[in-house]
Amino acid sequence: MRVASISKPTSKPSGSKVASQLEAAQAHCRVQGSRLTAQRKEIFELLLRRGGSAKAYDLQDDMRARHGRVAPSTVYRALEFLMAQHLVHRVDALNTFVVCTAEHSAHHPLLLVCSRCQSVTELQDDAAYEAVRKKLRQADSGFVESDIEVKGVCGKCRAQLPAVEQSATAHI
Ligand SMILES: [Zn+2]
Ligand SMILES: [Zn+2]
Repeated sequence: MRVASISKPTSKPSGSKVASQLEAAQAHCRVQGSRLTAQRKEIFELLLRRGGSAKAYDLQDDMRARHGRVAPSTVYRALEFLMAQHLVHRVDALNTFVVCTAEHSAHHPLLLVCSRCQSVTELQDDAAYEAVRKKLRQADSGFVESDIEVKGVCGKCRAQLPAVEQSATAHI
């Protein structure tokens, strides 16, 4: 199982890290035969600059600050493209978009969402995902294709809780 932590929205990445992630995204799209246009690339960059996690309207604000009026559909279309390329995931529980921290090939992440600090940790465990999928299929569920979000309290936040509360949050 691979665990990759997505930083909290407050932590700002360095310029060189953003540049190398943009380069990697560009290379990934090239291999996929898709085009990371200047606009798509810019929205991905803004998301990276916000620490890898943001709401669509935050990105729209950033675009507006740079270019003046920007239609919301511009941001959503770019995000849809980035999601289709597995560069970005949508976190429904927080209504945010996060940069994928795993390999960008087709995958279904397990997204662990901390209800206290709102950090998101991406887990990639194909066996676990398949096991859940199988159960859902057996239940004749239409949820089979969705990403799985698990809500709880992250390790960092748990460490700050008093011992009594810690045991209460241990079982998610
Ligand atoms: Zn991912
Ligand atoms: Zn937390």
